[in-house]
Amino acid sequence: KSFGDSGLPDNVLECCKNFDKPSPIQSHSWPFLLNGRDFIGIAKTGSGKTLAFGIPAIMYVLSKRKSKTAKKVNPLCLVLSPTRELAQQIADVLSDAGKPSGVKSVCLYGGTSKGPQIASLKSGVEIVIGTPGRLKDLMEMGVCHLNEVSFVVLDEADRMLDMGFEPEVRAILSQTCSARQMVMFSATWPLPVHQLAQEFMDPNPVKV
Ligand code: AMP
Repeated sequence: KSFGDSGLPDNVLECCKNFDKPSPIQSHSWPFLLNGRDFIGIAKTGSGKTLAFGIPAIMYVLSKRKSKTAKKVNPLCLVLSPTRELAQQIADVLSDAGKPSGVKSVCLYGGTSKGPQIASLKSGVEIVIGTPGRLKDLMEMGVCHLNEVSFVVLDEADRMLDMGFEPEVRAILSQTCSARQMVMFSATWPLPVHQLAQEFMDPNPVKV
């Protein structure tokens, strides 16, 4: 399958201009994610998974946003990552991919001052990429509102639970819209991850 077959607009595909064709996880995930399905991807780093969920996340924002020029917007889309490094990598990819269509994102992680992250949230962002601890802090401070988030990605879900973030993940998910589209990527599929999926996803998610 080629990028042309995906039906995605040129400004969204610009981030793929140096690639020959969609990676297998991308061509298997895009049709379902663009159709609103909950999705479980068993995939490792290096498979192209960031754009597998990132491009549908951008398309979701484009379909939902009220106005590109609206000043104050609450996030519509959330990506949770277990580590700062991964969060930053995802944020770099999404910021580049979202640039031609003007989709704004912010990366929220601990170990650094909150000021710039709060300023960024206040300026209005459509996609939040974050680690569970810092994100929960900023929610409790009342500066990060997830009540309009209806597209959620848990990246490296197995690692997130291994690192003990389950209480934060649950607290965060419970603040998002109950009618949300959920995407989970995990390298492995142990019982705690399975249970989290059962609890927070549609009964019949697509699993690839
Ligand atoms: P990821 O698994 O998302 O960390 O991506 C791993 C690497 O694959 C990154 O350097 C991407 O830029 C690259 N990549 C993503 N999609 C494609 C594609 N369709 N064809 C070739 N490389 C890709």
